[in-house]
Amino acid sequence: MVIGKADVSWTGSTLIVARTTELAEQLLTDGELRCPLCNTGQLVAWGYGRQRIVRDRDGTTVTLRPRRTRCRSCSSTHIVMPAALQPRHADTTAVIGTALLHKANGLGHRRIATVIDRPVSTVRRWLRRLSPAHLERIYQDGTRQLLALDPDTFTALRNTGNTLHHALSILSAAAYWDRHRYALDDPPWTLIGLYTRGRLLAAPG
Ligand SMILES: [Zn+2]
Repeated sequence: MVIGKADVSWTGSTLIVARTTELAEQLLTDGELRCPLCNTGQLVAWGYGRQRIVRDRDGTTVTLRPRRTRCRSCSSTHIVMPAALQPRHADTTAVIGTALLHKANGLGHRRIATVIDRPVSTVRRWLRRLSPAHLERIYQDGTRQLLALDPDTFTALRNTGNTLHHALSILSAAAYWDRHRYALDDPPWTLIGLYTRGRLLAAPG
């Protein structure tokens, strides 16, 4: 769980999501990154994962070699991903998030693909990952954050029946208050990537 000025979050036991790569490296150096599997073991640097090139907005790319870590207690290994990126996706959290926002505002997958300059098949695949169960999950991720940051805003945000729109509103409000309260300069989509633990879209299958 991530509450307030959080630096890391995780899904399952193999993936750790960090607000930034630099922050994760600092936590590793300081011995303050804990194992998500056994909960107590200290994680140490353990090489890197495969290098990836990820598409960002405006035609730019981000190159990343994700840090691999190993637990000193249980020997399990974990990949650390910056929250600006999504595991197993070739587009950044901001690109995928923007597509979801367009969907929430009523655009179809073809129109979204044109607006964000991505293949129709890619956008269609993303939108198929928005099952009711997944929407509930990201809504809960956002709710936990926003209730901890500003309960009044949570109360003021009404669900008008558009579940995706509501979930994104809650997540955006949480990012707003996190940035405001803790003077964070991380882009809102990065914080939303952190809250949703690297799973803005449901995992395949
Ligand atoms: Zn461990």
